[in-house]
Amino acid sequence: MFVKEVKIPTAEEIVAEIPFPARLAEIKARRDKLAIDVLTGKSDKFLVVIGPCSAHEAAPVLEYVERLGRLQEKVEGKLVLIPRIYTNKPRTKGVGYKGMFSQPNPEAGEDICRGIRAIRKLHIDAIDASHLSAADEMLYPENFAYLEDVLTYVTVGARSCENQLHRLVASGVGLPVGIKNPMGGSLAVLLNSVYAAQQSQVFKYHDYQVRTDGNPYAHSILRGMVDNNGNDIPNYHYETVMQLAEGYAARHLAHPAVVVDANHSNSGKAFRQQPRIVDEVLENRILDADFRKIVKGVMVESFLEEGSQVHDEIFGKSITDPCLGWTDTERLICRIAEKV
Ligand code: PEP
Ligand code: MN
Repeated sequence: MFVKEVKIPTAEEIVAEIPFPARLAEIKARRDKLAIDVLTGKSDKFLVVIGPCSAHEAAPVLEYVERLGRLQEKVEGKLVLIPRIYTNKPRTKGVGYKGMFSQPNPEAGEDICRGIRAIRKLHIDAIDASHLSAADEMLYPENFAYLEDVLTYVTVGARSCENQLHRLVASGVGLPVGIKNPMGGSLAVLLNSVYAAQQSQVFKYHDYQVRTDGNPYAHSILRGMVDNNGNDIPNYHYETVMQLAEGYAARHLAHPAVVVDANHSNSGKAFRQQPRIVDEVLENRILDADFRKIVKGVMVESFLEEGSQVHDEIFGKSITDPCLGWTDTERLICRIAEKV
């Protein structure tokens, strides 16, 4: 049984109510091109998708992206920094906190009408504050329409990699879409997902039969996997990345590309391991031309304060996965810029 509690405004209504200013849209278009040029090999800059696991409150996220924006100026020639502003992210077990989209106040219950406005406003304010446009996870494909015009990078999470609607909607996104390997780690499943997202598709979306062009910028994110006993197993090492490269070649996919997620099952959520993991990836890029060609970026979980907390008590500390703190983040970004 479903009790209809509240009628939710459509994406068209919300976009009309909270428009995206033209001056910020120009910044976003420039950032899109920078990210796409890295994925297609036109640019040899390196993508760094970085920020908190979930954006649970606007103020610390805006403070974080402002700092990131200043850092971007320093590493302009080498890196494309894309803040992670994940506004739909629930806790891993899907109960409790369900993301800013559902709970604009993380300590209160669901208020989706307010949540939708809060996430759109946060993404727009973040571009204004940092001149960087962000990444968000397409957790619920139908919510994507509320943010479609303001993002530069979209991810499909590990638990959604095998889902038909995620793959189909990804095929219509005119932006880089990073698809994570499924929890079990299958590279074949991951490549099927990238393949599906790269094809033209026809399906039902928002009350229409729609046709997409296929997304040539759909690519893989390696996030580690979980075995049958719940143990985390990393997949950022040379051997797995090269297996994925072979899989890309065998399927003749467009723009073979991999982003390595340094947290999650690659670090076993030991967040302080992220700089070491990134370092190994950069080292492999130096040592092997094929590895260098396919690994286009890294993803890092980072916030103002390191670690995580259960309740929103400390400003700028994650309430989902544990993150690197700001000092380590700044050091890491400077080191990446030196080594790419
Ligand atoms: C995340 O990126 O925060 C996340 C939970 O991703 P995954 O889908 O890899 O678990
Ligand atoms: Mn996370």
